[in-house]
Amino acid sequence: SQIKEIEFVKSSNRAKDCPRDERPEFAILGRSNVGKSSLINTLVKRKEVALTSKKPGKTQLINHFLVNKSWYIVDLPGYGFATASESERMDWSAFTKGYFLNRETLVAVLLLIDATIPPKRIDIDCANWLGRNNIPMTIVFTKCDKMKGKGRRPEETLGAFQDFMKENYKQHPPWIMTSSVSGLGRDELLLHMSQLRNY
Ligand code: GDP
Repeated sequence: SQIKEIEFVKSSNRAKDCPRDERPEFAILGRSNVGKSSLINTLVKRKEVALTSKKPGKTQLINHFLVNKSWYIVDLPGYGFATASESERMDWSAFTKGYFLNRETLVAVLLLIDATIPPKRIDIDCANWLGRNNIPMTIVFTKCDKMKGKGRRPEETLGAFQDFMKENYKQHPPWIMTSSVSGLGRDELLLHMSQLRNY
């Protein structure tokens, strides 16, 4: 399940333009600053996988990275940029929704949630939207190395999210606790993705 090779394939600005070779893919999604680039670099065991979506002010795009020539990691624009007026709004353009609703090769969305802060309305809205639209997701908690004392304990965020999931899903989505600093959850996440691909 390890990543031996990763190559950038293309940026698309609508679902229609995405690669059409039928390889399975995982979309990675979360608020900006959730730790997405760090997580991807940890999965790949490399310092810098250039994430085009990180460049501020750039057109938001769907970015396909081909892994081991057999499946894709898709980097999607982060939502909820933290300006006062926008912070709690799920500011998704139609193209992002179009991607989720029309991408038949999408195996699952990895929804990244920062475990060190209380769950945000925008994250819950996002989980709800995916759930309502029957889009499979795995909740990936990030920054789980940040423990007691200084900030919020990951268990608190986890607990709050689990309560939310229990109320809103017949079968609550799988979740994995990760840290890009300690490597926690890395192998578990890779294995999880390989199991979903072969399902
Ligand atoms: P992105 O905007 O979602 O791509 O987030 P980045 O990967 O750039 O990370 C945002 C900030 O969170 C940076 O300051 C990182 O150093 C920090 N960060 C990311 N992952 C972790 C983690 O697992 N543990 C800790 N303690 N900090 C992290």
